[in-house]
Amino acid sequence: MSAYHTIFIGGGINNLVCAGILAKSGKKVLLLERSNHLGGCIRSEEMEGCVVDTLSTAYPLFVTSPAYGELKADLDAEGIEFCATETPTGTILSDKSYALIKTNRDQNQADYNRLSVGDGDRFREQIRFIEENAEFLFSFLGKELVTFSMAKYVAKYVWKTGIKEAFDKAGAFVSNVRNDIPKHFNGKELQAALAPWILHTGMSPDSPFSATMSKIVAFTVELVGLPMVKGGSYKIVEAFKNIIEKNGGEIKLGQDVEEILVDAKGVVSGVKTKKETFTAKNVVASVTPTQLYGRLLKSSNIVPERVRKDASNYKYGMGNTQIHIVMNEEPKWYDKNLSKVTYVHLSDGINDVARACTQAKNQELPEKGTIAIGQPTATDPSRAKDGKHVLWIQLPECPNFPKADASKELSHLCKGEWTEELREAYADKIIDRISKYISNIKEATIARKVISPKDLSELNINLVNGDPYGGLCEIEQYLVFRPLKSTKNHTTPVKNLYHSGASTHPGPGLGGGAGFLIAQNLK
Ligand SMILES: Cc1cc2nc3c(=O)[nH]c(=O)nc-3n(C[C@H](O)[C@H](O)[C@H](O)COP(=O)(O)OP(=O)(O)OC[C@H]3O[C@@H](n4cnc5c(N)ncnc54)[C@H](O)[C@@H]3O)c2cc1C
Repeated sequence: MSAYHTIFIGGGINNLVCAGILAKSGKKVLLLERSNHLGGCIRSEEMEGCVVDTLSTAYPLFVTSPAYGELKADLDAEGIEFCATETPTGTILSDKSYALIKTNRDQNQADYNRLSVGDGDRFREQIRFIEENAEFLFSFLGKELVTFSMAKYVAKYVWKTGIKEAFDKAGAFVSNVRNDIPKHFNGKELQAALAPWILHTGMSPDSPFSATMSKIVAFTVELVGLPMVKGGSYKIVEAFKNIIEKNGGEIKLGQDVEEILVDAKGVVSGVKTKKETFTAKNVVASVTPTQLYGRLLKSSNIVPERVRKDASNYKYGMGNTQIHIVMNEEPKWYDKNLSKVTYVHLSDGINDVARACTQAKNQELPEKGTIAIGQPTATDPSRAKDGKHVLWIQLPECPNFPKADASKELSHLCKGEWTEELREAYADKIIDRISKYISNIKEATIARKVISPKDLSELNINLVNGDPYGGLCEIEQYLVFRPLKSTKNHTTPVKNLYHSGASTHPGPGLGGGAGFLIAQNLK
């Protein structure tokens, strides 16, 4: 008899969600995490007495997810609260003009109409387009896709909508940001406010389907803002740990799973770490396909050659750099309206974002990459004391292996690797750019921590080459094709072994979607 109903490999959001749901339904679960940190990409550290989320920080995907729906009462009981401002985001262009996205549709419409006649009305229309198709789109992003019920659902949709209109809609759905945004909006400010958001989905402006993803983001951000966990993201990890353990589940840190055990009939039987062997009826692995098929199932003869080949061809996306700053006073923005915006982007819009993506993919430091400036302490003041403030800065278009600098300034440091010297020099350049908008950023900084793509890959084995999203999010590796063309939904060639995490459908983010879907099968 197996010791556990389900063993989880990895302690990220998807496994925390799934283990929480199963433990609550009375199943005996064990979660094994290789590092000494639970939470995966959810991590908070103390800097100068402030709580700093060093990796992920914003929870719009979680608060709108079915996972939160199922676990809300338990998370509430653990004291989890979310904070959000009324102005979740905005983008500043180099001429210092800007557009903000607020959680107020009428206000957004009026603001964008003021910036460029008709843009506000068309923005409202585009959000309505998402709203009207929400059931269909969110089914795609929230359900298992390769099922008879999904095929029936799509057939019914086509039947109801009419074939011609269904194809028209499909055309609109697969459009990209570069072609779609200028079709609807004339103002450079609104174009710039929308364009960088595509980066947070792991896509770029030229990616098919990116226009729909950017509208879904705008719709979600307008609806719920960019909520953060009150007190810091570590609190939600502690809450999940309590939910799992109070319901009889076990969590072990420092347990690197080296092998998944499969019996002679091709059914999973447990896992092996360096220290121990654990048996279970089911195993859920929140790992990349590279690790699953190249390491954990390396010696299993049950895996078909086609699956191994697809897994070895699995692609990773651009790298990401984080800069965390603690200031001993409030950031002095050139315009006070920006001080309560949760994420401020610096970008001149679609062309800038697209150019920076291309440069990063060509292994160059971008000349003028997008800068996302998160203001966690403006959103949740409880994270800092004594007038201190935290800036969470993200640089989403980074080369994985920098070989050149498009601006030539740091070329001498670009030798194919993120060294400490390059990481700090690049961060200095970014801070110089930000200082044009936040005048006191240099003299008021009392602590700084920079995390390069190389550092990311060392923090979490799933962030291969510093890709924060567990694998390229282009259409060939998205939706029905995520994780692999040769596997179905979250199943694997091994019976009772499930594949979870950002590398699987519905992809990266804190929505816990994969974990929720697997839990529906196992509870
Ligand atoms: C810098 C950064 C910022 C982000 N910002 C946001 C944001 O603000 N909002 C948002 O929605 N999303 C954000 N994301 C994306 C989001 O955080 C991730 O997509 C999501 O957290 C991934 O969750 P996961 O369940 O795939 O597991 P992960 O978080 O990847 O965790 C997997 C865990 O499994 C462990 N593991 C792997 N292999 C083994 C093994 N063999 N044995 C034992 N343990 C193993 C790893 O050590 C890791 O702890 C961000 C990501 C990054 C990196």
